[in-house]
Amino acid sequence: MGVSADDNKPKEQDFLVASISQLSISNSTASPVVARFRSELGVPELRFETESNPNGSVHFDLRACQLYMLSPIESICILEASELNKEKSYSRGLTIQFRNEEESRAFHCAFERCKKEVVVQGSLLPNGPVSSKSKFDDKIEASSAKMYFHYYGQLLHQQNMLQDYVRTGSYYAAVMENRVDFLDRIVVDVGAGSGILSLFAAQAGARHVYAVEASEMSEYARKLIAGNPLLSQRITVIKGKVEEVDLPEQADVLISEPMGTLLVNERMLESYVIARDRFLDPSGKMFPTLGRIHVAPFSDEYLYIEIANKALFWQQQNYYGVNLTSLHGTAFQGYFSQPVVDAFDPRLLVAPPVSHVIDFTSSKEEDLYEIDIPLKFVASVGTRVHGLACWFDVLFNGSTVQRWLTTSPGAPTTHWYQLRCVLSQPIYVMSGQEITGRLFMVAHKAQSYTIHLTLSAKMWGPGAEQGGILQTSSGKLELKEPYYRMSQPQVYPMAQEQQSHQLLQSQDLQIQSQDEDVSDLFQQPM
Ligand code: SAH
Repeated sequence: MGVSADDNKPKEQDFLVASISQLSISNSTASPVVARFRSELGVPELRFETESNPNGSVHFDLRACQLYMLSPIESICILEASELNKEKSYSRGLTIQFRNEEESRAFHCAFERCKKEVVVQGSLLPNGPVSSKSKFDDKIEASSAKMYFHYYGQLLHQQNMLQDYVRTGSYYAAVMENRVDFLDRIVVDVGAGSGILSLFAAQAGARHVYAVEASEMSEYARKLIAGNPLLSQRITVIKGKVEEVDLPEQADVLISEPMGTLLVNERMLESYVIARDRFLDPSGKMFPTLGRIHVAPFSDEYLYIEIANKALFWQQQNYYGVNLTSLHGTAFQGYFSQPVVDAFDPRLLVAPPVSHVIDFTSSKEEDLYEIDIPLKFVASVGTRVHGLACWFDVLFNGSTVQRWLTTSPGAPTTHWYQLRCVLSQPIYVMSGQEITGRLFMVAHKAQSYTIHLTLSAKMWGPGAEQGGILQTSSGKLELKEPYYRMSQPQVYPMAQEQQSHQLLQSQDLQIQSQDEDVSDLFQQPM
């Protein structure tokens, strides 16, 4: 394209300036420049000092300062003129050349951290007052969060998860089988805990991993990572909530283990989705990619009697001369409001499961506030249904291998076990009969859910017109208050064995692959 003589005349939109030059601090003496974050008379500052000329230091008020990356090893720091720094009413800028990418990242993380501290202290940022409350604080009770992060700050609980070899082994396999997804990529480990998944990602060749962990475990993660020097140069641990921390660059991959009992307990999936929206490149990958909740009606007389019997204590009319019976009803309902966590025999299931998918790549955080699962089953046997059995699985949709991690009954047991919602009023079903209902879960501020369960069956047989009488049983359960039944013996005594044989016809269960569909375990109606 040619330039005519006329184009050289200044136009309205053109400005003649004296000169332009690259913003930079000249470092002609080649002595290193030290950047320091410090607080001077309560004002947080970023100072650049050269050893050769300590008096010539440049300092920026962090409250009015922005930092941008120009390249992996070059950044620009801009101090905006504002009310905050009255004596210098002009904006200033400085380009910073780092020695390598690691140091650049570390500097950016420190910058964000110090700036955050400024916000948390309640100071003003250039664009006005900033609330120190995050999305997390808005929806979660402080007391719940405190206990939650205290729990995860303890090594023994991290060890418990690490020793779930089905869990940790599945993550390891999912990462290693899909190296191509990690190689030379920027990864964020959402809720890094001990840092194990960050180390896996680094082993798979990640360019850099940001391990974000809100609990005190972040310190141990730092130690663990530092103890693996070949990997540690490519991992930065950042203490804070994923809802609050800032990262210096966008991620190509998110890795996380945000699953609680029944997938959604602890409400960490919401943090995973928030991290996706905050950090992940739109074309990025998520490990895991999606989760599924599976539910099916079950029959378990032993469990039902065990729970009902717990309340028997309150039926005493003469407990040291005191009549306890007025509290029996409350105690009875109380025990049935606890979901039971244990590993059960899949032969107790009465129908193939119904599934509900949560796609982590597209779900909105708000989608997880209420989870509504319509239920429709066909009973494969005639029996008493005592409630709804629930479990979940997650998919790692890698470019090379799709791997499932399942917590299904009959599959190798995980630390999540399975969960059963037992109804105080069982319902009777015939083989081939339809069972309908609803599982409705509502999130609450204590990082869990209230479960509303209804199961119904139309009564058949003598005395009831077909489709006439509807049996309905409902329960309200608290996911945060489960009854851990794992210490109970898991052998099913003869009587029950026989019962389940009658009900479901015995068959040898062989669970080989982790993603086997439980519906394969069912007998067809007799
Ligand atoms: N990734 C580790 C730990 C998983 S447990 C592993 O697989 O072994 C979940 C971890 O996420 C806990 O350590 C918890 O403290 C952390 N966490 C939960 N919510 C978080 C949040 N919003 N921000 C940062 N960390 C969070």
